[in-house]
Amino acid sequence: MASPLMSLVNDDGRYQKSFQLFLERSSEHQCMRDFIHNKLPDLLTSIGDGKSHLNVIGVGSGAGEIDLEMLSELHKKHPEVVVDNEVVEPSSQQLHNYKVVVSQKPELNYIKFTWNKMTASEFEEHWKQTKMTKKADFIHMIQMLYYVKDPGATISFFQSLLNKNGKLIIILVSEKSGWGKLWRKYRTQLCNTEISQCVTTGDIKSILDSKGVSYQSFDLPSQMDITECFIEGDEKGELLLDFLTEVLDFSKTASQELRAGVLELLRHPDCSMEAEGRVIFNNNLGVIVIDKPT
Ligand code: SAH
Repeated sequence: MASPLMSLVNDDGRYQKSFQLFLERSSEHQCMRDFIHNKLPDLLTSIGDGKSHLNVIGVGSGAGEIDLEMLSELHKKHPEVVVDNEVVEPSSQQLHNYKVVVSQKPELNYIKFTWNKMTASEFEEHWKQTKMTKKADFIHMIQMLYYVKDPGATISFFQSLLNKNGKLIIILVSEKSGWGKLWRKYRTQLCNTEISQCVTTGDIKSILDSKGVSYQSFDLPSQMDITECFIEGDEKGELLLDFLTEVLDFSKTASQELRAGVLELLRHPDCSMEAEGRVIFNNNLGVIVIDKPT
């Protein structure tokens, strides 16, 4: 039976608002920054093979905060190199925010930005139609593979664009996170598979294993304070619940039974721990690093 619930992604304004609140209530970006500063530099050492020009593709870049941190590590590693950066992002609001930040940073003049206001699959189509032969040295997809129809096919396409020594980096929630637990139980009721797949790094690893693709992986411990979700009628709690369930106005549109079940699971020790009166949801992420196909 088709789910009567509307996906949060249908309302970009509310999606962006709930995403911003999620960033405020979680260590999401902090744990990514730790990875970018501590692990990414080593991964970037070998890319480019001594070339003076590197091609980067960011897929689902959002407002670019994390992209710019990665580009800064890339610049530290390869200071003489100029960078061609393709940004693939369907939200005009996010793309605008990203452009504003870039316009305020003249020090980024070693990067040429190409703004592609499109989804990953539109970009794939555009790339094939224009018979682009350019290859990429570094491609990243951070917290975006939920929004493509076939994550395995999307990975294969972008992997095929890698240059010798190129790297494709994927970040998603870990199967061991609260998200993984929530989706294992409620995937069929919450996920509208036309728009979003409740995928974790565990699912991606299974896909890669079944295709014999080798990869490196890293765990990024992260937390999210979801205390407000349990305050009836709390505006911020409702926004966070929308984000957690990916359902637009979850509290108002889900059945009483589904709402009670989700709330119970969210504070269950499988998903969260309670500390000093706060409910702290396990937001652990995973990183997967893939090389050019052999
Ligand atoms: N990478 C950023 C943003 C993650 S939020 C970060 O980690 O902070 C997910 C982003 O993917 C949003 O900006 C959303 O607009 C974008 N997105 C949604 N559907 C997409 C699709 N089909 N292809 C590419 N990007 C998509």
